[in-house]
Amino acid sequence: MKEILKKVEQLTAEVEAEVIALRREFHQHPELGFEEENTGRKVAEYLENLGITVETGVGRTGVVGLLAGENPGPVIALRADMDALPVTEKTGVEYASQIPGKMHACGHDGHTSILLGTAKVLSQLRSELKGSVKFIFQPAEEGPGGALPMLEAGVLENPHVDAIFGLHLWPDFKPGQIGLGYGAVMAAPDKFVVKIKGKGGHGSAPHEAIDSITIAAQVINGLQHIASRQIIPTQPVVITIGTITGGYRYNIIADEVEMTGTIRTLNPEVRTEIPQRMEEIIKGITSGFGAEYEFEYIKMYPPLVNHQEMAEYVENIGRQVLGSEGVQLIKDPVMGGEDFAYYLEQIPGAFFRLGSNSGPETSYPLHHPQFNIDEKALVTGMRVLCNLALNYKG
Ligand SMILES: [Zn+2]
Ligand SMILES: [Zn+2]
Repeated sequence: MKEILKKVEQLTAEVEAEVIALRREFHQHPELGFEEENTGRKVAEYLENLGITVETGVGRTGVVGLLAGENPGPVIALRADMDALPVTEKTGVEYASQIPGKMHACGHDGHTSILLGTAKVLSQLRSELKGSVKFIFQPAEEGPGGALPMLEAGVLENPHVDAIFGLHLWPDFKPGQIGLGYGAVMAAPDKFVVKIKGKGGHGSAPHEAIDSITIAAQVINGLQHIASRQIIPTQPVVITIGTITGGYRYNIIADEVEMTGTIRTLNPEVRTEIPQRMEEIIKGITSGFGAEYEFEYIKMYPPLVNHQEMAEYVENIGRQVLGSEGVQLIKDPVMGGEDFAYYLEQIPGAFFRLGSNSGPETSYPLHHPQFNIDEKALVTGMRVLCNLALNYKG
């Protein structure tokens, strides 16, 4: 193990400058979900040059590389996402996005380059590698989701993958650190749309109308009741109404209101319970006031649940690679979503956070127009991923 650690340290240091350059290139040319044509092409070319078997167009714009070690053993997968966000960059760095309205504001440029660097280092360590490594470059994590189409395309088969690992750049931790949680670490980020259909009328004659706006107010309060009064308090539920639209003019009673929002849950059973409870409340309130409704609940990614043994493995490898301070255990999950969750529904694995914040310029949250990383994080990411691949025994 010590010898491998040293080799990885040396080889990742050698590839660091190249990986930083790759990251900056991806950063300048962001592509949104399922548009990752150029990014995917670059990824495929890079892997092919390393002698790695490449498959393109997996789950639309995804790319998969397979590196066979010189010794038999398990197959592990390492996953990066490639897509950017519809955000206009405001960092002012010289390698800022060249496309207005598109930006790598979630660090997926970093994830992609870390995985390419990891592939390069592992391809140089084939003789040490027991089994194979699958490199999964996934599209559209930010939506509508690229993990599911890749799974449907059979990304975890031929050969069958025994375990999967992924990371996300994270400004809550310093470069040289990773954050790791056990159990559910990210939420299911579901969506909903509610339409309340009343009857329009003159603002001075409410008795002749059915006011969809006052009914919407009751529905909003009623829905919050689910989180505060109906679900067991030890299980978190977030109910957020993000938009409310309706009405025409100050003196007209609105015939229709539409609201959209998001529901965040960590527990799959609680998650199943929510849509029915929501509909009961919406139905009860609207029918009580003589209005009608439409309700649509859109299930997005499942909660992201790390497998116990796999999280222990990441913790163990993390401490050996980065020292005991290098692994920060996360007590609180975040209620954001991540479609890596789909892989963990199928096979064992774990997802960890990669510290990227070393000062004011790298302290902005994910998705912020000024989000940026301390690029020292890239080499840390490569070191952890390489060691996860080289030491996995199945
Ligand atoms: Zn994101
Ligand atoms: Zn992300």
